[in-house]
Amino acid sequence: MRYISTRGAAPVLTFAEAMMTGLARDGGLYVPETVPQFTAEEIAALAGQPYEEVAFRVMKPFCGDSFTDAELKGAISRAYAGFGHAARAPMVQLAPNHFLLELFHGPTLAFKDFAMQVIGQLFQIALAKADKRITIVGATSGDTGSAAIEAFRGLENVDVFILFPHGRVSEVQRRQMTTPVEANVHALALEGDFDDCQGKLKDMFNHFEFRDEVGLAGVNSINFARVLAQIVYFFASAVALGAPHRKVSFTVPTGNFGDIFAGFLAKEMGLPIERLVIATNQNDILDRCIKQGAYEKKGVKPSISPSMDIEVSSNFERALFWAYGKDGAAISALMTELNETGRFTVSDNAMGALLAQYDSGMIDEEGTLAVISRTLKDSAELLCPHSAVGVGVAEAALAKAPEVPMITLATAHPAKFPDAVEKASGIRPPLPPRMADLFERDERVTRVPNDLAALEALIQERRRK
Ligand SMILES: *Cc1c(COP(=O)(O)O)cnc(C)c1O
Repeated sequence: MRYISTRGAAPVLTFAEAMMTGLARDGGLYVPETVPQFTAEEIAALAGQPYEEVAFRVMKPFCGDSFTDAELKGAISRAYAGFGHAARAPMVQLAPNHFLLELFHGPTLAFKDFAMQVIGQLFQIALAKADKRITIVGATSGDTGSAAIEAFRGLENVDVFILFPHGRVSEVQRRQMTTPVEANVHALALEGDFDDCQGKLKDMFNHFEFRDEVGLAGVNSINFARVLAQIVYFFASAVALGAPHRKVSFTVPTGNFGDIFAGFLAKEMGLPIERLVIATNQNDILDRCIKQGAYEKKGVKPSISPSMDIEVSSNFERALFWAYGKDGAAISALMTELNETGRFTVSDNAMGALLAQYDSGMIDEEGTLAVISRTLKDSAELLCPHSAVGVGVAEAALAKAPEVPMITLATAHPAKFPDAVEKASGIRPPLPPRMADLFERDERVTRVPNDLAALEALIQERRRK
Protein backbone atom coordinates (compact mmCIF):
# COMPACT_ATOMS: atom_id res chain seq x y z
CA MET A 1 0.00 0.00 0.00
CA ARG A 2 1.47 3.32 -1.12
CA TYR A 3 0.58 6.81 0.09
CA ILE A 4 0.55 9.84 -2.21
CA SER A 5 0.14 13.56 -1.55
CA THR A 6 -3.03 15.47 -2.48
CA ARG A 7 -0.77 18.02 -4.19
CA GLY A 8 1.01 15.43 -6.27
CA ALA A 9 4.60 16.59 -5.69
CA ALA A 10 5.86 14.83 -2.53
CA PRO A 11 7.63 11.48 -2.14
CA VAL A 12 5.42 8.37 -2.22
CA LEU A 13 5.54 6.70 1.23
CA THR A 14 4.57 3.53 3.07
CA PHE A 15 1.87 3.62 5.75
CA ALA A 16 4.35 3.91 8.64
CA GLU A 17 6.31 6.63 6.82
CA ALA A 18 3.14 8.60 6.08
CA MET A 19 2.12 8.26 9.74
CA MET A 20 5.48 9.56 11.02
CA THR A 21 5.59 12.35 8.43
CA GLY A 22 2.17 13.96 8.87
CA LEU A 23 2.03 16.86 6.41
CA ALA A 24 3.58 16.09 3.01
CA ARG A 25 6.58 18.14 1.87
CA ASP A 26 4.59 19.77 -0.93
CA GLY A 27 2.11 21.07 1.68
CA GLY A 28 -0.43 18.36 0.79
CA LEU A 29 -1.98 15.53 2.77
CA TYR A 30 -1.18 11.86 2.36
CA VAL A 31 -3.90 9.54 1.06
CA PRO A 32 -3.79 5.87 0.03
CA GLU A 33 -3.12 5.46 -3.68
CA THR A 34 -5.96 2.93 -3.89
CA VAL A 35 -8.74 2.25 -1.38
CA PRO A 36 -9.03 -1.39 -0.22
CA GLN A 37 -12.36 -2.98 -1.12
CA PHE A 38 -14.54 -5.09 1.19
CA THR A 39 -17.10 -7.52 -0.27
CA ALA A 40 -20.62 -7.73 1.15
CA GLU A 41 -19.63 -11.04 2.76
CA GLU A 42 -16.60 -9.49 4.47
CA ILE A 43 -18.76 -6.67 5.80
CA ALA A 44 -21.48 -9.06 6.99
CA ALA A 45 -18.84 -11.09 8.83
CA LEU A 46 -18.03 -8.06 11.03
CA ALA A 47 -21.44 -8.38 12.73
CA GLY A 48 -21.18 -9.39 16.36
CA GLN A 49 -17.37 -9.07 16.50
CA PRO A 50 -15.72 -7.13 19.35
CA TYR A 51 -14.74 -3.57 18.42
CA GLU A 52 -11.04 -4.48 18.47
CA GLU A 53 -11.55 -7.24 15.91
CA VAL A 54 -13.48 -4.92 13.59
CA ALA A 55 -10.64 -2.41 13.98
CA PHE A 56 -8.02 -4.99 13.04
CA ARG A 57 -9.88 -6.15 9.92
CA VAL A 58 -10.65 -2.62 8.71
CA MET A 59 -7.18 -1.16 9.36
CA LYS A 60 -5.00 -4.05 8.24
CA PRO A 61 -5.30 -3.64 4.44
CA PHE A 62 -4.22 0.02 4.75
CA CYS A 63 -1.06 -0.81 6.71
CA GLY A 64 0.77 -2.83 4.04
CA ASP A 65 3.97 -4.30 5.48
CA SER A 66 4.46 -1.54 8.06
CA PHE A 67 3.25 -3.64 11.00
CA THR A 68 2.88 -7.37 11.56
CA ASP A 69 -0.56 -8.73 12.43
CA ALA A 70 0.61 -9.27 16.01
CA GLU A 71 1.91 -5.69 16.28
CA LEU A 72 -1.31 -4.20 14.91
CA LYS A 73 -3.51 -6.40 17.12
CA GLY A 74 -1.41 -5.54 20.19
CA ALA A 75 -1.57 -1.80 19.43
CA ILE A 76 -5.35 -1.91 19.00
CA SER A 77 -5.92 -3.91 22.14
CA ARG A 78 -3.75 -1.59 24.29
CA ALA A 79 -5.36 1.47 22.69
CA TYR A 80 -8.89 0.62 23.78
CA ALA A 81 -8.11 -1.08 27.11
CA GLY A 82 -8.45 2.24 28.96
CA PHE A 83 -11.91 3.08 27.59
CA GLY A 84 -14.75 3.38 30.07
CA HIS A 85 -17.20 1.25 28.05
CA ALA A 86 -16.90 -2.40 27.04
CA ALA A 87 -18.55 -1.74 23.67
CA ARG A 88 -16.01 1.12 22.99
CA ALA A 89 -18.53 2.87 20.68
CA PRO A 90 -22.02 2.05 22.00
CA MET A 91 -25.16 3.23 20.23
CA VAL A 92 -28.39 4.50 21.77
CA GLN A 93 -31.65 5.31 20.00
CA LEU A 94 -32.91 8.91 20.09
CA ALA A 95 -36.06 8.72 17.98
CA PRO A 96 -37.62 6.50 15.30
CA ASN A 97 -34.76 5.55 12.96
CA HIS A 98 -32.34 8.02 14.63
CA PHE A 99 -29.37 6.60 16.51
CA LEU A 100 -26.58 8.26 18.50
CA LEU A 101 -23.09 6.75 18.31
CA GLU A 102 -21.35 7.56 21.59
CA LEU A 103 -17.69 8.19 20.82
CA PHE A 104 -16.83 9.77 24.17
CA HIS A 105 -15.89 6.88 26.44
CA GLY A 106 -12.12 7.24 25.96
CA PRO A 107 -9.66 8.78 28.43
CA THR A 108 -10.29 12.42 27.38
CA LEU A 109 -14.02 12.07 26.72
CA ALA A 110 -13.98 12.96 23.00
CA PHE A 111 -13.89 10.89 19.82
CA LYS A 112 -10.27 11.94 19.18
CA ASP A 113 -9.20 9.20 21.62
CA PHE A 114 -10.28 6.50 19.14
CA ALA A 115 -7.52 7.42 16.74
CA MET A 116 -4.98 9.05 19.02
CA GLN A 117 -4.69 6.07 21.35
CA VAL A 118 -3.99 3.78 18.39
CA ILE A 119 -1.38 6.03 16.84
CA GLY A 120 0.36 6.47 20.19
CA GLN A 121 0.83 2.70 20.24
CA LEU A 122 1.84 2.51 16.57
CA PHE A 123 4.39 5.33 16.95
CA GLN A 124 5.94 3.55 19.89
CA ILE A 125 6.36 0.33 17.89
CA ALA A 126 7.73 2.10 14.81
CA LEU A 127 10.18 4.30 16.77
CA ALA A 128 11.52 1.40 18.79
CA LYS A 129 12.13 -0.56 15.59
CA ALA A 130 13.93 2.38 13.94
CA ASP A 131 15.72 3.50 17.15
CA LYS A 132 14.59 7.11 16.52
CA ARG A 133 13.32 10.05 18.58
CA ILE A 134 10.68 12.50 17.41
CA THR A 135 9.08 15.75 18.46
CA ILE A 136 5.33 15.81 18.12
CA VAL A 137 3.83 19.25 17.67
CA GLY A 138 0.07 19.54 17.51
CA ALA A 139 -2.42 22.38 17.13
CA THR A 140 -5.73 21.99 18.88
CA SER A 141 -9.08 23.67 19.26
CA GLY A 142 -9.28 21.67 22.50
CA ASP A 143 -9.86 17.97 22.05
CA THR A 144 -6.96 16.90 19.81
CA GLY A 145 -4.40 18.28 22.24
CA SER A 146 -5.67 16.47 25.30
CA ALA A 147 -6.10 13.25 23.31
CA ALA A 148 -2.52 13.53 21.98
CA ILE A 149 -1.06 14.24 25.41
CA GLU A 150 -2.98 11.32 26.87
CA ALA A 151 -1.69 9.03 24.10
CA PHE A 152 1.99 10.10 24.21
CA ARG A 153 2.61 11.09 27.86
CA GLY A 154 5.66 9.36 29.30
CA LEU A 155 6.71 7.68 26.03
CA GLU A 156 10.48 7.23 25.86
CA ASN A 157 11.23 8.43 22.31
CA VAL A 158 8.72 11.26 22.03
CA ASP A 159 8.39 14.87 23.19
CA VAL A 160 4.93 16.42 22.81
CA PHE A 161 4.21 20.13 22.32
CA ILE A 162 0.57 21.18 22.01
CA LEU A 163 -0.48 24.65 20.83
CA PHE A 164 -3.94 25.76 21.87
CA PRO A 165 -5.62 29.18 21.46
CA HIS A 166 -5.24 31.02 24.75
CA GLY A 167 -8.59 31.55 26.48
CA ARG A 168 -10.58 29.73 23.81
CA VAL A 169 -10.79 26.20 25.14
CA SER A 170 -13.06 24.97 27.92
CA GLU A 171 -11.64 24.60 31.41
CA VAL A 172 -11.90 20.81 31.27
CA GLN A 173 -10.09 20.78 27.92
CA ARG A 174 -7.36 23.08 29.26
CA ARG A 175 -6.86 21.10 32.44
CA GLN A 176 -6.61 17.85 30.52
CA MET A 177 -3.64 19.41 28.68
CA THR A 178 -1.98 21.27 31.54
CA THR A 179 -2.18 18.76 34.40
CA PRO A 180 -0.20 15.73 33.14
CA VAL A 181 3.02 15.61 35.16
CA GLU A 182 5.28 13.82 32.65
CA ALA A 183 8.35 15.82 31.60
CA ASN A 184 7.84 15.06 27.88
CA VAL A 185 4.52 16.95 27.83
CA HIS A 186 4.40 20.72 27.05
CA ALA A 187 1.13 22.69 26.84
CA LEU A 188 1.57 26.01 24.99
CA ALA A 189 -1.14 28.71 25.12
CA LEU A 190 -0.80 30.72 21.90
CA GLU A 191 -1.94 34.35 21.58
CA GLY A 192 -4.41 33.81 18.74
CA ASP A 193 -7.23 31.59 17.53
CA PHE A 194 -7.21 27.98 16.37
CA ASP A 195 -6.44 28.88 12.77
CA ASP A 196 -3.34 30.74 14.05
CA CYS A 197 -2.25 27.60 15.90
CA GLN A 198 -2.80 25.50 12.82
CA GLY A 199 -1.01 28.07 10.68
CA LYS A 200 2.08 28.05 12.94
CA LEU A 201 2.11 24.26 12.82
CA LYS A 202 2.03 24.30 9.03
CA ASP A 203 4.84 26.88 8.99
CA MET A 204 7.01 24.59 11.15
CA PHE A 205 6.39 21.68 8.82
CA ASN A 206 7.31 23.84 5.85
CA HIS A 207 10.54 24.97 7.53
CA PHE A 208 12.48 21.87 6.48
CA GLU A 209 15.66 22.65 8.40
CA PHE A 210 13.77 22.86 11.71
CA ARG A 211 11.55 19.93 10.73
CA ASP A 212 14.51 17.62 10.13
CA GLU A 213 16.55 18.84 13.08
CA VAL A 214 13.91 18.12 15.74
CA GLY A 215 12.37 15.12 13.94
CA LEU A 216 9.03 16.89 13.68
CA ALA A 217 5.97 14.65 13.51
CA GLY A 218 2.33 15.66 13.38
CA VAL A 219 -0.69 13.98 14.89
CA ASN A 220 -3.36 16.44 13.78
CA SER A 221 -6.21 15.01 11.77
CA ILE A 222 -4.07 15.62 8.67
CA ASN A 223 -2.25 12.47 9.81
CA PHE A 224 -3.70 9.68 7.72
CA ALA A 225 -3.33 7.12 10.51
CA ARG A 226 -5.91 9.07 12.49
CA VAL A 227 -8.41 9.09 9.67
CA LEU A 228 -7.85 5.37 9.28
CA ALA A 229 -8.66 4.53 12.91
CA GLN A 230 -11.89 6.54 12.57
CA ILE A 231 -13.14 4.46 9.63
CA VAL A 232 -13.67 1.60 12.08
CA TYR A 233 -16.70 2.95 13.93
CA PHE A 234 -18.55 3.69 10.69
CA PHE A 235 -18.31 -0.03 9.91
CA ALA A 236 -19.08 -1.20 13.45
CA SER A 237 -22.20 0.96 13.81
CA ALA A 238 -23.55 0.39 10.28
CA VAL A 239 -23.19 -3.37 10.66
CA ALA A 240 -25.01 -3.21 14.01
CA LEU A 241 -27.98 -1.66 12.17
CA GLY A 242 -28.05 -4.22 9.38
CA ALA A 243 -25.35 -3.29 6.83
CA PRO A 244 -24.51 -4.53 4.26
CA HIS A 245 -28.13 -5.69 3.83
CA ARG A 246 -29.51 -2.24 4.56
CA LYS A 247 -28.15 1.24 3.91
CA VAL A 248 -27.54 3.80 6.64
CA SER A 249 -26.74 7.52 6.67
CA PHE A 250 -24.41 9.40 8.99
CA THR A 251 -24.43 12.93 10.35
CA VAL A 252 -21.05 14.15 11.59
CA PRO A 253 -20.37 17.30 13.66
CA THR A 254 -17.59 18.71 11.52
CA GLY A 255 -14.64 21.05 11.84
CA ASN A 256 -11.44 19.85 10.25
CA PHE A 257 -13.32 17.26 8.14
CA GLY A 258 -11.27 14.30 9.43
CA ASP A 259 -14.14 12.38 10.95
CA ILE A 260 -16.54 12.71 8.05
CA PHE A 261 -13.77 11.94 5.57
CA ALA A 262 -13.29 8.64 7.40
CA GLY A 263 -16.97 8.01 6.64
CA PHE A 264 -16.33 8.75 2.97
CA LEU A 265 -13.49 6.21 2.91
CA ALA A 266 -15.74 3.62 4.59
CA LYS A 267 -18.17 4.16 1.72
CA GLU A 268 -15.37 3.90 -0.86
CA MET A 269 -14.38 0.57 0.74
CA GLY A 270 -17.85 -0.78 0.04
CA LEU A 271 -19.91 0.08 3.14
CA PRO A 272 -23.41 0.96 1.88
CA ILE A 273 -23.78 4.55 3.13
CA GLU A 274 -26.63 6.55 1.66
CA ARG A 275 -25.71 10.10 2.73
CA LEU A 276 -22.86 11.70 4.67
CA VAL A 277 -24.23 14.83 6.32
CA ILE A 278 -21.82 17.60 7.34
CA ALA A 279 -23.06 19.41 10.46
CA THR A 280 -21.51 22.80 11.26
CA ASN A 281 -22.04 25.42 13.96
CA GLN A 282 -22.20 29.16 13.16
CA ASN A 283 -18.75 28.81 11.61
CA ASP A 284 -20.45 27.42 8.54
CA ILE A 285 -17.82 27.67 5.81
CA LEU A 286 -18.36 24.02 4.81
CA ASP A 287 -22.16 24.32 4.76
CA ARG A 288 -21.87 27.43 2.60
CA CYS A 289 -19.42 25.68 0.29
CA ILE A 290 -21.74 22.70 -0.22
CA LYS A 291 -24.74 24.98 -0.82
CA GLN A 292 -23.05 27.72 -2.87
CA GLY A 293 -20.06 26.07 -4.52
CA ALA A 294 -17.48 28.50 -3.12
CA TYR A 295 -15.15 28.14 -0.15
CA GLU A 296 -14.89 31.57 1.40
CA LYS A 297 -13.29 32.69 4.66
CA LYS A 298 -15.20 35.23 6.76
CA GLY A 299 -13.44 35.04 10.16
CA VAL A 300 -14.09 32.65 13.04
CA LYS A 301 -16.68 33.50 15.70
CA PRO A 302 -16.09 31.66 19.00
CA SER A 303 -19.02 29.35 19.77
CA ILE A 304 -20.24 26.98 22.49
CA SER A 305 -18.99 24.09 20.33
CA PRO A 306 -15.34 25.29 20.19
CA SER A 307 -13.89 22.14 18.63
CA MET A 308 -15.72 23.07 15.45
CA ASP A 309 -14.64 26.75 15.37
CA ILE A 310 -12.59 26.36 12.23
CA GLU A 311 -12.27 28.03 8.86
CA VAL A 312 -9.35 26.22 7.34
CA SER A 313 -10.83 22.76 7.30
CA SER A 314 -7.66 20.82 6.53
CA ASN A 315 -9.09 17.47 5.57
CA PHE A 316 -11.54 19.03 3.14
CA GLU A 317 -8.50 19.04 0.85
CA ARG A 318 -8.73 15.25 0.80
CA ALA A 319 -12.41 15.39 -0.20
CA LEU A 320 -11.52 17.89 -2.94
CA PHE A 321 -8.74 15.60 -4.17
CA TRP A 322 -11.33 12.89 -4.86
CA ALA A 323 -13.84 15.39 -6.25
CA TYR A 324 -11.19 16.69 -8.70
CA GLY A 325 -10.39 13.17 -9.95
CA LYS A 326 -7.13 13.03 -7.91
CA ASP A 327 -5.60 15.94 -9.82
CA GLY A 328 -2.83 17.13 -7.47
CA ALA A 329 -2.00 20.20 -9.59
CA ALA A 330 -5.62 21.38 -9.44
CA ILE A 331 -5.67 21.01 -5.64
CA SER A 332 -2.38 22.83 -5.32
CA ALA A 333 -3.78 25.73 -7.36
CA LEU A 334 -6.95 25.91 -5.20
CA MET A 335 -4.92 25.99 -1.99
CA THR A 336 -2.63 28.72 -3.32
CA GLU A 337 -5.72 30.74 -4.26
CA LEU A 338 -7.18 30.23 -0.77
CA ASN A 339 -3.92 31.40 0.79
CA GLU A 340 -3.71 34.48 -1.37
CA THR A 341 -7.35 35.57 -1.63
CA GLY A 342 -9.17 33.80 1.23
CA ARG A 343 -11.51 31.97 -1.15
CA PHE A 344 -11.85 29.62 -4.11
CA THR A 345 -14.67 28.44 -6.35
CA VAL A 346 -15.22 24.71 -6.77
CA SER A 347 -15.53 23.61 -10.42
CA ASP A 348 -18.95 22.36 -11.60
CA ASN A 349 -17.65 18.82 -12.07
CA ALA A 350 -16.11 18.69 -8.61
CA MET A 351 -19.24 20.20 -7.07
CA GLY A 352 -21.25 17.40 -8.68
CA ALA A 353 -18.91 14.85 -7.14
CA LEU A 354 -19.18 16.45 -3.68
CA LEU A 355 -22.98 16.65 -3.84
CA ALA A 356 -23.12 12.96 -4.78
CA GLN A 357 -21.62 12.16 -1.34
CA TYR A 358 -22.39 14.96 1.07
CA ASP A 359 -25.33 16.94 2.42
CA SER A 360 -24.85 19.71 4.92
CA GLY A 361 -26.58 21.82 7.52
CA MET A 362 -25.85 24.48 10.14
CA ILE A 363 -27.17 24.97 13.66
CA ASP A 364 -26.53 28.35 15.33
CA GLU A 365 -25.87 29.00 19.02
CA GLU A 366 -29.49 29.32 20.08
CA GLY A 367 -30.44 26.30 18.00
CA THR A 368 -27.72 24.26 19.71
CA LEU A 369 -29.04 25.08 23.17
CA ALA A 370 -32.57 24.26 22.01
CA VAL A 371 -31.49 20.84 20.71
CA ILE A 372 -29.78 20.02 24.03
CA SER A 373 -32.90 20.90 26.00
CA ARG A 374 -35.34 19.20 23.59
CA THR A 375 -33.28 15.98 23.37
CA LEU A 376 -33.13 15.75 27.15
CA LYS A 377 -36.93 16.09 27.33
CA ASP A 378 -37.77 13.80 24.41
CA SER A 379 -35.13 11.07 24.78
CA ALA A 380 -33.51 11.49 28.21
CA GLU A 381 -30.10 12.06 26.55
CA LEU A 382 -27.80 14.87 27.65
CA LEU A 383 -25.79 15.99 24.59
CA CYS A 384 -22.58 18.01 24.43
CA PRO A 385 -22.93 21.12 22.20
CA HIS A 386 -21.02 19.50 19.27
CA SER A 387 -23.20 16.42 19.35
CA ALA A 388 -26.25 18.69 19.58
CA VAL A 389 -25.23 20.44 16.35
CA GLY A 390 -25.09 16.97 14.79
CA VAL A 391 -28.46 15.92 16.15
CA GLY A 392 -30.16 19.13 14.99
CA VAL A 393 -28.79 18.80 11.45
CA ALA A 394 -29.56 15.06 11.40
CA GLU A 395 -33.20 15.65 12.31
CA ALA A 396 -33.68 17.79 9.22
CA ALA A 397 -31.87 15.23 7.02
CA LEU A 398 -33.90 12.36 8.47
CA ALA A 399 -37.16 14.19 7.76
CA LYS A 400 -36.21 14.16 4.05
CA ALA A 401 -35.46 10.40 3.99
CA PRO A 402 -37.22 8.85 6.98
CA GLU A 403 -36.79 5.27 5.73
CA VAL A 404 -32.96 5.28 5.96
CA PRO A 405 -31.57 4.84 9.49
CA MET A 406 -29.59 7.92 10.57
CA ILE A 407 -26.57 7.55 12.83
CA THR A 408 -25.39 10.80 14.43
CA LEU A 409 -21.89 10.85 15.89
CA ALA A 410 -21.77 12.07 19.50
CA THR A 411 -18.25 13.50 19.49
CA ALA A 412 -17.77 14.53 23.13
CA HIS A 413 -19.11 13.84 26.62
CA PRO A 414 -21.39 16.59 27.98
CA ALA A 415 -19.15 16.96 31.06
CA LYS A 416 -16.43 18.35 28.81
CA PHE A 417 -18.59 21.44 28.14
CA PRO A 418 -20.51 21.84 31.42
CA ASP A 419 -21.30 25.58 31.11
CA ALA A 420 -23.17 25.32 27.81
CA VAL A 421 -24.89 22.12 28.84
CA GLU A 422 -26.03 23.62 32.14
CA LYS A 423 -27.26 26.76 30.40
CA ALA A 424 -29.37 24.65 28.03
CA SER A 425 -30.64 21.99 30.40
CA GLY A 426 -30.26 23.19 33.98
CA ILE A 427 -28.09 20.14 34.65
CA ARG A 428 -24.36 20.41 35.32
CA PRO A 429 -23.03 17.07 34.03
CA PRO A 430 -20.47 15.50 36.40
CA LEU A 431 -17.14 14.13 35.17
CA PRO A 432 -16.91 10.33 35.20
CA PRO A 433 -15.46 9.12 38.53
CA ARG A 434 -12.09 8.19 36.96
CA MET A 435 -11.31 11.90 36.37
CA ALA A 436 -13.28 13.52 39.16
CA ASP A 437 -10.16 15.16 40.70
CA LEU A 438 -9.25 17.08 37.51
CA PHE A 439 -10.02 20.45 39.09
CA GLU A 440 -7.68 19.86 42.01
CA ARG A 441 -4.58 18.95 39.98
CA ASP A 442 -1.76 21.52 39.41
CA GLU A 443 -1.51 23.16 35.99
CA ARG A 444 1.65 23.65 33.93
CA VAL A 445 1.40 25.87 30.83
CA THR A 446 3.55 28.34 28.86
CA ARG A 447 2.07 31.46 27.18
CA VAL A 448 3.60 31.92 23.71
CA PRO A 449 3.34 34.71 21.10
CA ASN A 450 1.96 34.06 17.61
CA ASP A 451 5.51 34.05 16.25
CA LEU A 452 7.27 31.25 14.42
CA ALA A 453 10.85 31.98 15.49
CA ALA A 454 9.92 32.21 19.17
CA LEU A 455 8.02 28.95 19.03
CA GLU A 456 10.80 27.10 17.28
CA ALA A 457 13.35 28.37 19.80
CA LEU A 458 11.19 27.21 22.70
CA ILE A 459 10.76 23.73 21.22
CA GLN A 460 14.49 23.46 20.54
CA GLU A 461 15.26 24.37 24.13
CA ARG A 462 12.69 22.14 25.82
CA ARG A 463 12.91 18.94 23.82
CA ARG A 464 15.07 16.12 25.16
CA LYS A 465 18.14 15.61 23.00
C1 LIG B 1 -12.55 17.52 16.72
C2 LIG B 1 -13.97 17.58 17.09
C3 LIG B 1 -14.98 17.75 16.12
C4 LIG B 1 -14.65 17.98 14.66
O1 LIG B 1 -14.08 16.83 14.07
P1 LIG B 1 -13.25 16.97 12.69
O2 LIG B 1 -12.71 15.62 12.44
O3 LIG B 1 -12.22 17.99 12.95
O4 LIG B 1 -14.25 17.40 11.66
C5 LIG B 1 -16.29 17.73 16.54
N1 LIG B 1 -16.62 17.57 17.82
C6 LIG B 1 -15.69 17.41 18.79
C7 LIG B 1 -16.11 17.26 20.21
C8 LIG B 1 -14.33 17.40 18.45
O5 LIG B 1 -13.42 17.24 19.40
